[in-house]
Amino acid sequence: MYRIYGNFIDGQWQTSISQKLLDSINPATGEVVAHTQDSTVADVDRAVTSVRSAFQTTDWGKNSHRRAAALAKWADAIDEHANDLAAFLTAENGKPIREARVEIQGCSDSLRYYSGMARNVFGRTFQPAADNMGFITREPVGVVAMITPWNWPALLLFRDLAPALAAGNGVVVKPADRTGAITARFFELLEGIDEFSQGILALVTGRGATVGNALVEHRGTDMICFTGSTQVGVQIMQTAARQVKKVALELGGKSPNIVFDDADLEKAITTSCRSLFMTSGQICMAGSRLLVHESIYEDAIQLAKAYAEQLEVGDGALETTDMGPIISETQMSAVLAYIEDGRREGRVVTGGNRLSGPRYDHGFFVAPTVIADLPTTSRVIQEEIFGPVLAVQSFQTEQEAIQLANGTAYGLTAGVWAENLSRAMRVAREIQAGTVWVNGYNRNYAEAESGGFKSSGIGRTRGIDGLLEFTEAKHINITF
Ligand code: NAD
Repeated sequence: MYRIYGNFIDGQWQTSISQKLLDSINPATGEVVAHTQDSTVADVDRAVTSVRSAFQTTDWGKNSHRRAAALAKWADAIDEHANDLAAFLTAENGKPIREARVEIQGCSDSLRYYSGMARNVFGRTFQPAADNMGFITREPVGVVAMITPWNWPALLLFRDLAPALAAGNGVVVKPADRTGAITARFFELLEGIDEFSQGILALVTGRGATVGNALVEHRGTDMICFTGSTQVGVQIMQTAARQVKKVALELGGKSPNIVFDDADLEKAITTSCRSLFMTSGQICMAGSRLLVHESIYEDAIQLAKAYAEQLEVGDGALETTDMGPIISETQMSAVLAYIEDGRREGRVVTGGNRLSGPRYDHGFFVAPTVIADLPTTSRVIQEEIFGPVLAVQSFQTEQEAIQLANGTAYGLTAGVWAENLSRAMRVAREIQAGTVWVNGYNRNYAEAESGGFKSSGIGRTRGIDGLLEFTEAKHINITF
């Protein structure tokens, strides 16, 4: 029996004024696993008004010890319920259970890191003259609207929610409509934590065009923190510009792994492939382009093919599953259309089709796919596919590798594989991306800033900058 989850406003569970519900569907089986509220603009107004009132009337923004304790307790509650949360995340999103466990662990880790940071929101002082002193203080921005995607719905929420709360803000969360229920599960854990000021945090589920847009337009939100597609990010920025509202945007990617001829080839290809096929390629940091020195190009293609073909694709609930389904039928069709382009313009080395058979027919499964020999202008090279499609290209010189790596509109992450660390460092410095890993990939830490260059975003998440993103600097100056 599946449950109906409400909105969480004013510390209470509420149903939407619309009296309508959204379905959460398991993409591996096509079954409904939960319902969430299909909220309206009026629900958004309720939530924003409530959070603003809590922000203005409680000591949340001024009591760092309270905030530190609240975040630590939420982390403990998540750890206590980690198994249930992971199982439900897999049911709603489709990702393999092993990956879901890692994701849940990342949520409590973010909370703990920023629980400590809540007591370290330091400013500066200076004395420019004998009779004058200045103080630079860091203050919360106010009410933050946090709009999240479905692909890593738990970790990406806490990645930003933990610093926003640590900095003293009130927050209204709007999860992706496909993953509203797992988000609501985290809010259920707030009920036993007295340190959370009543109403400082709200959840409103619903559609992007109504709930998301209403949050951006609402006069009561001071900042929009958005993780999602570049296309929607642009729209949000345009709408927010009308009120000169602060935005933090974590957007799409088309990340390269650059493999030089002195690299540990097997490790480079295995790790690059893992980074792409994880979450069925539905990950912003996916290493979706493999750039290989021409002398090892065919060897790399064969290794990538072998990696793709040994993956166990299926229902994420099974411990043995390496790769789950695509989130929806629409998204699956979009991925298959990219593959058809790749077939016309290049060489499909393996995969290239929807999977069929009793294990697959009720869900949305695409075979792990490797495509080689594509022209740089191909859509498969230039656009974010958000599916299990790896594009392999070759280069001759270091300069060409850098040019190819920087040759898309995106700039989120990159990998450089070389035993010659001087070369690796030289290349890392030239890559236009917020994160560059050398001889590794996807090493993400709460303490390390990440974010996008170019069309991959604005601002930084995680680390110290991730906390300061949710503050305003104020200069208070005294003449005595
Ligand atoms: P999406 O842009 O379709 O939706 C993201 C969120 O925005 C959802 O909650 C959605 O309901 C909401 N939304 C949609 N239209 C809106 C509007 N007009 N106004 C306000 N809100 C609106 O993205 P998605 O399909 O959920 O996620 C996939 C995308 O997210 C990919 O492009 C991926 O690269 C990106 N992503 C980026 C990061 C990062 O850290 N850079 C992390 C994960 C995902």
